[in-house]
Amino acid sequence: MTRGPADSDAEDVSGDLARELAQAIELEQFFLVYQPTIDLQTNAFAGVEALIRWHHPRRGVLGPDNFIDELEESGQIMPVGRWALNTACAQGAAWHDRGYRFSVSVNVSERQFESSAFFQDVADALWSSRFDSSLLVLEFAQATLRGDRETTAPRLELLRTLGVRFSIDDFEPGETALEELGQLPIDIVKLDREFIAGLSASSEASSLVHRLVESSETRHLQVIAAGIEDSGQREQLQNEKVHVGQGYLFSRPHEAEEIDRFLEDFAIFSGKPL
Ligand code: C2E
Ligand code: CA
Repeated sequence: MTRGPADSDAEDVSGDLARELAQAIELEQFFLVYQPTIDLQTNAFAGVEALIRWHHPRRGVLGPDNFIDELEESGQIMPVGRWALNTACAQGAAWHDRGYRFSVSVNVSERQFESSAFFQDVADALWSSRFDSSLLVLEFAQATLRGDRETTAPRLELLRTLGVRFSIDDFEPGETALEELGQLPIDIVKLDREFIAGLSASSEASSLVHRLVESSETRHLQVIAAGIEDSGQREQLQNEKVHVGQGYLFSRPHEAEEIDRFLEDFAIFSGKPL
């Protein structure tokens, strides 16, 4: 992410940041970019993940690492998260209307998940966009779902009544994580980018992926590998029968119009009908 000169003055930035973020929705400075996911076995387009960006008036386009924590701490993640859900569902419905049928994933922060307003936010976004709920995927960090099982499971079950699917983000398939996975109603497991980066050098990591993919059949889980940057990684993951891949090798995140072009090219090069 390119950073502007204001980054050098940390205190000013944090003071300004809170104030500027408070107005950013109203001033329509947020926008979403979408990063494709690709079926590793068939090369078909599988879906997109929506990722937030902030068009800052002085500092240019900022990635979420510059402001998500502040949104979380101030509670502004609620309106901003609502905006992201509405925007992603509207865009998903627009693609759907044009004959494309692929999933749209939206990142959900812990604070959103724990808020009593979240269920209604998801329901409203689906209702107002008419987006097919089975194509909406809510992505939760592994840590978000690690909380109190007594509250996490019922929350997920309630959201499930809307017909949406759930993904665990940044998943590291250790023994405990694999065990925990079996106790939650999760549809998609997204292998962590750092984990994928270390995969080729670690036979232990490969055997964990192997076990995860094996167990995914009976659990009806889809396994996604994030952060695929080279074709060696892609081949290894294809050999391990990982279902879906995402990463700079396939595409960086882009605005919706750019994804439209990607979809057209993709249909031509993959030989897939639209
Ligand atoms: P994440 O959910 O793990 O999203 C993937 C991040 O990895 C994105 O960064 C994406 O641009 C980057 N990425 C994808 N493929 C590659 C690759 O091959 N190599 C490398 N080095 N990076 C890759 P981004 O867009 O900066 O997002 C950072 C984080 O901000 C996200 O991590 C997510 O946790 C959070 N985030 C983004 N949008 C939203 C949102 O709308 N709501 C919430 N609550 N969080 C969001
Ligand atoms: Ca994610």
